[in-house]
Amino acid sequence: MKLIFLGPPGAGKGTLAARAVDLITVPHISTGAIFRSAIAAKSPLGLTVKAIIDSGKLVDDEATVKLVRERLAQQDVQKGYILDGFPRTIAQAEALAGFSKADKVVNFDIPDTAVLERLSGRRVCRQCGINYHIIFNKPQKEYVCDACGGEVYVRDDDREEAVRKRLEVYREQTAPLIDFYRRQGLLVDVDAQPGTEGVVSNFKKALGI
Ligand code: AMP
Repeated sequence: MKLIFLGPPGAGKGTLAARAVDLITVPHISTGAIFRSAIAAKSPLGLTVKAIIDSGKLVDDEATVKLVRERLAQQDVQKGYILDGFPRTIAQAEALAGFSKADKVVNFDIPDTAVLERLSGRRVCRQCGINYHIIFNKPQKEYVCDACGGEVYVRDDDREEAVRKRLEVYREQTAPLIDFYRRQGLLVDVDAQPGTEGVVSNFKKALGI
């Protein structure tokens, strides 16, 4: 199954993807996570995108599409994938249609108030990328990942100024994809407001799993 996860930052796309890969056994491809690894490795890509990502803006379409096209050419994704955070613009969606056709687009339906509450408390493991929350989902030991022992930190783009920018960018550039995919009959809405177990259950129902 080839799925696109579409929704604002903080909607829980990454958290659900981490669960969904066990249900449908396909790789999880997060463009944000690929960029964060490149930044951590100080690779040429990482050095180019760091300031853009920290400010909450989008990396340019050409570089992002190239990255995804190369990733989707690999053997492990031929039967399916979860694309998390891509496409984020109409231009990216049109480019994607030229090299891979998704079966469904899962639209994470969530109000801004819930998104802000989640992002302001979000913490992430620097090593394995698992998400935590300072109130709803704390690691057992502060700053230490339960799963891998990595450092749990605040993403630079989860700071207030960048969050505001990311929501604005989402509304202007990414939200139009909802109608774009709805018109193609690919969109499946999932209520992303409940906690993780509720969202997993909504996702299973929406996809008939
Ligand atoms: P995410 O982890 O999906 O919230 O992505 C973090 C940041 O990476 C975004 O705010 C963008 O700066 C960048 N990014 C991730 N995916 C894309 C994309 N499809 N197009 C452009 N920039 C992206």
